[in-house]
Amino acid sequence: MFKLIKKDRDTQARLGKMTTSHGEVDTPNFMPVGTVGSVKTLTPDEIKSADTQMLLANAYHLFLRPGAEVIKQAGGLHNFMNWSGPILTDSGGYQVFSLAQLCKIKDDGVEFKSHIDGSSFFFTPESILEFQQVLGSDIMMVLDECVPYPSQHDYVKRSLKLTTDWARRSRHRFLRCLEDTGSQQSDRNNGPITTQGRQYLFGIVQGGMYFDLRKEAVDQLIEIGFDGYALGGLSVGEPRELMYDIVESTIPMLPDNKTHYLMGVGTIIDIFESVERGVDIFDCVVPTRNGRNGVAFTATGKMQIRNARFKNDNTPIDRECVCACCKGYARSYLHHLFKANEILGLRLLSLHNITFYAKLMQNIRQAIKEDRFLEFKKEFLGNYNT
Ligand SMILES: [Zn+2]
Repeated sequence: MFKLIKKDRDTQARLGKMTTSHGEVDTPNFMPVGTVGSVKTLTPDEIKSADTQMLLANAYHLFLRPGAEVIKQAGGLHNFMNWSGPILTDSGGYQVFSLAQLCKIKDDGVEFKSHIDGSSFFFTPESILEFQQVLGSDIMMVLDECVPYPSQHDYVKRSLKLTTDWARRSRHRFLRCLEDTGSQQSDRNNGPITTQGRQYLFGIVQGGMYFDLRKEAVDQLIEIGFDGYALGGLSVGEPRELMYDIVESTIPMLPDNKTHYLMGVGTIIDIFESVERGVDIFDCVVPTRNGRNGVAFTATGKMQIRNARFKNDNTPIDRECVCACCKGYARSYLHHLFKANEILGLRLLSLHNITFYAKLMQNIRQAIKEDRFLEFKKEFLGNYNT
């Protein structure tokens, strides 16, 4: 499902293409986050108008609300949310450990109480995979344990053993599904076919901030065999340089012909540094959450539209930007919307920010294509006030 088109001459940056049943995704790429099946405040048409190619949704949240039956009846997540492009669903491992209450890890799965109403659930690697099959997402993620930062080596080692065991069980369940759907042996590497199309399964490299454990994780996941590989458990409070070091040492151990996904990371600087180290896809709440907080991304840095200096500024956020916000509305009006707590302000800035991110990724791809990624990075970050 992933085709490596070319590598940058001077760095590990890669140009690639993922092919899914719901369309192609040019990499490097950024996925806006639609946790509960909605990119907050935006319609799918608006998301598409921003040149977004792929969305992320979260199995943990969708399992708790609205639940499998509702989505099954609606014909899968694509139909339910009216998004026809590719969707990647996170398994919810991270959410179980960060959001749920009274979370108890057992060998066969994880017991927890819903953060919404306190009711009890038990997730197994198999049950989460089956739920993602109901969702019909194009890319499914295995259940994993995301360890907090900092954690002791022996704890992370024990956790990794469990995560690897869960990854193996997820892959077995995935292969059994192939047999259930009557796929031919030759289709095995292409994933099971649901009513929503082919699905793929990615493994998640854990191992905390320990290089030896990251290597162990990669070796074991490659032996199990996945359609793509994600780096999890990063951007959890560790120093930025340490995260880059982990990415730099881990990515080269992954197969070249598979997608490299860095989970939950997506500031502008992190994107440049990680693309340079060979990452293909990203997801993060940064553009949409900032938009709802009155912060717009521009070529010179972040702009807080509530700031008094925009009260009488009748220029758009970004003259070069093609989004509906920049085409139709001035900073003065957006400033007013935020001052008056009007929902339209949240919508317009969210739209502008995901457009900005999509355009940035497009420019990064163009730069890799022309072997001038470092030059582009230097030029962009030289103007961008972090
Ligand atoms: Zn714009």
